[in-house]
Amino acid sequence: MSGQNRYDVVVLGAGPAGSSAAEYASKGGVKVALVERKEKTGYPVRCGEAMGIKGINNIGFDVDPGWIMNRIKKACLISPNGTHITYTKMADSYVVNREIMDADLVKRAVNAGTDYFPNSPVLSVKQIEKQLYECRCPDKTFTAPCIIIADGVESRLARDLGWNTVCELEDIDCCAFCRIDCDIEQDTCYFIIGSQITPAGYLWIFPREKGQINIGLGLLGSHSSPGKAKTLLLDYINKHYPHASISNLHCGGDPAGQYLLPLVKNGAMVVGDAARQVASLTGGGINYALFAGKTAGTVAAEAFQNNTFNMSHLNKYESIWKKGYGKQQLRSYALKSILLKEVNDKFLNGIASSLVKKPSSKLSLLNIFFKVFLHKPGALLKTYLLFR
Ligand SMILES: Cc1cc2nc3c(=O)[nH]c(=O)nc-3n(C[C@H](O)[C@H](O)[C@H](O)COP(=O)(O)OP(=O)(O)OC[C@H]3O[C@@H](n4cnc5c(N)ncnc54)[C@H](O)[C@@H]3O)c2cc1C
Repeated sequence: MSGQNRYDVVVLGAGPAGSSAAEYASKGGVKVALVERKEKTGYPVRCGEAMGIKGINNIGFDVDPGWIMNRIKKACLISPNGTHITYTKMADSYVVNREIMDADLVKRAVNAGTDYFPNSPVLSVKQIEKQLYECRCPDKTFTAPCIIIADGVESRLARDLGWNTVCELEDIDCCAFCRIDCDIEQDTCYFIIGSQITPAGYLWIFPREKGQINIGLGLLGSHSSPGKAKTLLLDYINKHYPHASISNLHCGGDPAGQYLLPLVKNGAMVVGDAARQVASLTGGGINYALFAGKTAGTVAAEAFQNNTFNMSHLNKYESIWKKGYGKQQLRSYALKSILLKEVNDKFLNGIASSLVKKPSSKLSLLNIFFKVFLHKPGALLKTYLLFR
């Protein structure tokens, strides 16, 4: 075993959560290592690559123009009988190139002073003293009083430290995703629902660049079986785009349940997919990962003031998360649970036929939900209480 590397903060995993944590910890003046198992972070891409612009602006994160492949202005919901409902409120999004973005986020961390270690799978993490963790890779070992776990949806490392990271089947979206060559309106994304497409989930289409779309499908683990998401996606593509050439076909899980608690324990923090910080209803997690990473990194650096490490200061990350995106995530989880109980194809078609008469500028996701529950007073009350 060669190389003992002593740091203030070691970040495990260089996705958006880990890289932003490393960048902001380094900006706070502490000594940071960012350890990544792959040679090339962000590759292969297992993501629809869509990011809400309002969300990213709220985080105060600079989006590099070089990441942006397309800008979406409209979202179109397609009901089980094919009715199109288009809305513009809350639809403004970028479609980014995750390969470029993830690599740039690592560069930002390195420019801020982080030492970056690609090709370094972390095999184990353990607490070796009250204020010291040891992270072992095949050819090196890192030690630090503070670690940030950012190893994504398959997170194994938080489990090493006693976190229960098991996702219930109804809290994980089983996804299949690919790119296909085809021309659709560049400024519109599509969400297609109905039991013919997929049970307990939806199919999405994000136009990426002229002539290419990201297309994917996710369904709850409780309604899935091995290979089902991929079969349903390919069935849809064969039916609607029979001549399209398919590339970058991948499957993966999206932890669309509730976030892990606690988020902080004895000098260790968990961020991003590893902490199940994902918008439960849509499965979007990039903005959440950036916010969690930025907050955890900033708080970690603050904990090292005056040459001492104040472990209890790390709890600030959990309280900032809870007040910010945490609240939004729990609300979206509760809404998803109500929808899953109440909604079926016939019901959705009825709603779609009444919504289609409204101008798109007057529709927002919130109006749509209230319309959905209008004739179900119990569900309407629960929805109202969520947004009060
Ligand atoms: C099919 C699909 C489509 C999606 N589409 C969207 C979308 O359109 N918009 C959106 O906002 N979100 C989307 N998401 C979710 C989004 O991709 C994630 O929420 C986001 O990538 C989370 O970032 P992260 O940094 O937490 O994890 P990741 O991006 O998964 O990064 C984790 C990193 O940790 C590394 N790692 C893992 N184990 C180790 C180890 N032992 N040692 C060292 N390194 C390790 C990995 O190699 C990886 O680089 C989608 C997810 C799926 C599955």
